[in-house]
Amino acid sequence: MVFIIGLSIFIVSTVKAENYLPLLGKVIVIDPGHGGRDPGTMYGNIYEKDINLEISKKLEKTLMEQGAIVYMIRESDVDLSSKYDKQKKRGDLYRRILFIEDEKKKTDIYLSIHINWYKNSSWSGAEVLYHNINPNNKLLGEIVMKHLKKDFDTKRSLKKTSLYLYRNTTVPGVLIECGFLSNPNERYLLRQESYQEKLSGSITDAVIEYFQALSSSASG
Ligand SMILES: [Zn+2]
Repeated sequence: MVFIIGLSIFIVSTVKAENYLPLLGKVIVIDPGHGGRDPGTMYGNIYEKDINLEISKKLEKTLMEQGAIVYMIRESDVDLSSKYDKQKKRGDLYRRILFIEDEKKKTDIYLSIHINWYKNSSWSGAEVLYHNINPNNKLLGEIVMKHLKKDFDTKRSLKKTSLYLYRNTTVPGVLIECGFLSNPNERYLLRQESYQEKLSGSITDAVIEYFQALSSSASG
């Protein structure tokens, strides 16, 4: 009897959990910036590429916990350039675009994860950048920025970018600069697991709200 009750509670809670996965079936590509021969910005032996990957792996987990299908552009310290590429950086970015746009994946959105740098070390705060190539990019950018402002009290705001990857990727997506490696306080925080988890939670909340906004505008 106890077994049967236990089993039925298990079945009910499993079904219930599936009903409440807000990202079920959504396909999200995470693009951890830089990697391999390209460290990104750096401070001493602290490399942007490593922090990007750490945050991206936490984001992969929180998105998947909400039901998303997640593809990581890289899961280790590599870049996507070929030894035959004359322009290594361009080759790396070009293959990232191909990865996101690959028709078999049916990508709904991509998220590029980066860390900022500025010569004035007092600059701090996360910010989001987008390109107009897809009309949904602005909506996604506004929602991610809103959640970062709420959770991190950043004074920074949504901006446009014309960087190569963003102006050539037609699938909706944004660039998230998670903070400044040039700022001593954020340089410390961005390497803390708890801070990385808070960032991934905030971005995941925003992604959920984005898909809800899309479905409510489609039905209304
Ligand atoms: Zn970067």
